[in-house]
Amino acid sequence: MTLSKKSPQPRPGILEIQPYVGGKAKAKGANRAIRLASNENPLGASSAAIEAFRAAANSLHRYPDGGATQLREAIGAAEGLPVDRLVCGAGSDELIQLLVRGYAGPGDEVLYSQHGFLVYPLAAMAAGARPVAATEHSLTADVDALLAAVSARTRMVFLANPNNPTGSYLGRQAVARLRNGLPEDVLLVLDAAYAEYVEEADYDAGAELVAAHENVAMLRTFSKIHGLAALRLGWVYGPKAAIDVLNRIRGPFNVTAPAQAAGLAAIGDSDHVARSVASNAAQLARFREAVLTLGLEAPPSVGNFQLVRFPDPAKTAKAAKARLAGEGVLVRGMTSYGLPDCLRITIGLEEDMDSVIEGLRGFLA
Ligand SMILES: *Cc1c(COP(=O)(O)O)cnc(C)c1O
Repeated sequence: MTLSKKSPQPRPGILEIQPYVGGKAKAKGANRAIRLASNENPLGASSAAIEAFRAAANSLHRYPDGGATQLREAIGAAEGLPVDRLVCGAGSDELIQLLVRGYAGPGDEVLYSQHGFLVYPLAAMAAGARPVAATEHSLTADVDALLAAVSARTRMVFLANPNNPTGSYLGRQAVARLRNGLPEDVLLVLDAAYAEYVEEADYDAGAELVAAHENVAMLRTFSKIHGLAALRLGWVYGPKAAIDVLNRIRGPFNVTAPAQAAGLAAIGDSDHVARSVASNAAQLARFREAVLTLGLEAPPSVGNFQLVRFPDPAKTAKAAKARLAGEGVLVRGMTSYGLPDCLRITIGLEEDMDSVIEGLRGFLA
């Protein structure tokens, strides 16, 4: 789009941003949709959270608590974290945008990993900063490559751990090595959106590092394990100085009252969390086995999704996606992540995964 010189002009770089495209929700022509394109919780939200959301409908004329006090207290109690070091946001997405706005601008660099979450480079560009991608190996963030990509202009480093869309993760020692290799004035943001799903013993979502250092923040979300994606609710645990920055630049009422109420109830429903984790673990293992048996590639995943690679040039990821869509199964293409021969498939219920496996078997036959 070109604008005439007389119209208002956006800041340099804004029109180079390719807007983030979310997963599809509707399948053309098919009368059902199995939605496996956005890593949503197939069990839905906790019934306690739904109840709290409904109850919040009676107070829609009231402004929310701008400090999300009760919710932060509940998060702090559940996670063993100091409440004054937590900020809630309208999804962790808002917190990513705010952190970049607070710490990077024109002339600055924001570092991330090659197949890292796409929101990081988009947020960097929106702030006028330059996104810099460090090469990965085996679809996993490479600490040495990240450290080698740090320049005098680097202001922050984003690491999704586990990473979406690859499903890989770095153990606590690797993340500590990354932190220790960074200049103290570079902010390391650990995005642990899928932390609750990870069962590996050497994994830490980041709280240990945040507690020990002044330049580490950890992001979490209610969108995945708690099944509250529609409400937009996330939080960050960070150093005092970063919390202060976020509280200065965030909107005074950035988290809605229904979101706060539902989030509070969700934290209280640990059974729902446990059921969600167990269902994902069982279906992820079963699905990966089936995919490998079909002759497709499936790197190990610790999230609630599986990356699937289609090695046969006669049976492409794009064609598989179209075939699945024709059967009402929606999955995510990976071209925008530099992985055009892959699809990312969210782990759904047992019958959802049966549909995917059957669809892939038919496609490959
Ligand atoms: C899904 C996801 C989020 C969560 O975003 P919200 O804005 O909280 O819904 C954050 N980071 C990564 C890597 C994700 O995959």
